[in-house]
Amino acid sequence: MNQVIQRFCQVRERISVAAGERTDVTLVVASKMISLDVLRPLIALGQRDFGENRVQEAAMKWAGVRTDLPDLTLHLIGPLQSNKVRQAVALFDVIHVVDRPGIAEALAGEIARTGKKPGLLVQVNTGEEPQKAGVAPRDAKAFVASCREQYGLCIDGLTCIPPIGDEVALHFSLLRKIADEVGVSDLSMGMSDDYEKAIAYGATYVRVGRAIFGERC
Ligand SMILES: *Cc1c(COP(=O)(O)O)cnc(C)c1O
Repeated sequence: MNQVIQRFCQVRERISVAAGERTDVTLVVASKMISLDVLRPLIALGQRDFGENRVQEAAMKWAGVRTDLPDLTLHLIGPLQSNKVRQAVALFDVIHVVDRPGIAEALAGEIARTGKKPGLLVQVNTGEEPQKAGVAPRDAKAFVASCREQYGLCIDGLTCIPPIGDEVALHFSLLRKIADEVGVSDLSMGMSDDYEKAIAYGATYVRVGRAIFGERC
């Protein structure tokens, strides 16, 4: 069996063990820079959720696949620029990276215009890293409130990407605490090195790339 398929099956099995009785944990295969040829066997094995970082790359990769695969679920997990919002709403089913008023406003406009209703998650910069997208934890509550009240958006959950080298449990539990405070149920957290721990802390979406595809150069 090819190595990607083997690793994919291992990840899927480990997620299933970590989730136990829970049925709300979804593996989002982080497929940036991975070609459709490599992904097709995973689709054949039933994988439907894929996470992409770039709107343009995702549009080119997935545009033709949709018609044959109505239950394909595409997740935007990389940063979103205002000028890509139209394309993003057209393509993605779940947007994990709502992180500032300008994007919330643009999404609201595009959702109203098209009638599409992508799932929306607010990204929280739990490590308060200056180079990283996301609202600061202390601002998260007010931002979610303004998404709802000012822009009429339905916010489904929160996303975080913990700083490299930090104890991830602190970030996962912080994200969960904020989610409880703002009343959302989806938690997008956990990647190749820590998805099982993220599930233990309540993750509903784990985004896994390297553990399946190996290191991308
Ligand atoms: C690439 C990526 C992942 C997957 O990370 P791995 O370490 O490859 O599992 C998850 N989330 C985001 C936002 C990513 O860009």
